[in-house]
Amino acid sequence: MSVALFTLGGTIAMAGTSTGGPGGPVVARLTGADLVAAVPGLDTLGVPLEVQDAQAVPSANLTFAQLLDLVDAAAKAVAAGAHGVVVTQGTDTIEESAYLVDLVWPHPEPFVLTGAMRNPTLAGPDGPANLLAAARVAASPAARELGALVVLNDEVHAARWVRKAHATSTGAFASPDTGPLGHVIEGEVRILTRPPRRTPLRTDRSRAPRVALHTVTLDDDAALLPRLADTHQGLVVAGFGVGHVPSELAPVLGDLATRMPVVLTSRTGGGSVLRHTYGAIGSETDLQRRGLINGGLLDPYKARILLRLLLASGAGRDEIAAAFAEHA
Ligand code: ASP
Repeated sequence: MSVALFTLGGTIAMAGTSTGGPGGPVVARLTGADLVAAVPGLDTLGVPLEVQDAQAVPSANLTFAQLLDLVDAAAKAVAAGAHGVVVTQGTDTIEESAYLVDLVWPHPEPFVLTGAMRNPTLAGPDGPANLLAAARVAASPAARELGALVVLNDEVHAARWVRKAHATSTGAFASPDTGPLGHVIEGEVRILTRPPRRTPLRTDRSRAPRVALHTVTLDDDAALLPRLADTHQGLVVAGFGVGHVPSELAPVLGDLATRMPVVLTSRTGGGSVLRHTYGAIGSETDLQRRGLINGGLLDPYKARILLRLLLASGAGRDEIAAAFAEHA
């Protein structure tokens, strides 16, 4: 029995440079072996970590292609006998990469992503504790059949619901609609709730569709929107509240929806876009009538991941709407 550990960089793997001096800026350069060596008590896990260094980058630099390659490498590790997978990466994009993995990971073995909020040069870095907790979850039978999970601060979050909700706190991760699925308590993995798995999506690397995200703001004239279909293949709108936009934008979005899929989400950070409550121009009922697809409970960032994967697989509008009905 083993756990496969893949490293992608991020704060958890950052250290100073010789030119930066003590207290200077840090960059991603620690290896998986360095990370493992810094974890006290890893031997109590009773399971070896098989380390593969994949990238050493800030998570802002990660791409869909790199993450899909990582999923392939993780699938190979599982086929070779790993009981679970841990990935260390930057926390800035972990909510997006975890959801991407979750949508395509078909295996029962847990796929756990973790990182750190305090880099290893600071007092009280959280990386070692997060890596140990992530390894415990990856090795735990209780975490099987849960898809991709994000483990930080001894909390186990479903990739589908987790968000980075604070810029610096070690308790930066939250699942506003559900709370965490479980916790790591005195080294024991306690899963309290088990959301059903969705059908995994097929992937196609030959296409890299561009999906834009437009957050609607007060007095927004969205001057960039009308020409978007010339450069992009899909759009996610982060609307006000339950999925509303200024009335002036409604026909612009309706026109775009005749040319590419446009998904309606909420910019609030919790709760769902509604379906049939408000009737004004620019309301959720009006926008759906104009052809926008309801993003339901998916936040704008996750809706963008889902739409991009669907477009890459060649899905048409009906298939995309059906997938959002299932996943959102
Ligand atoms: N900016 C860093 C990154 O996402 C933050 C982190 O690692 O937590 O790579």
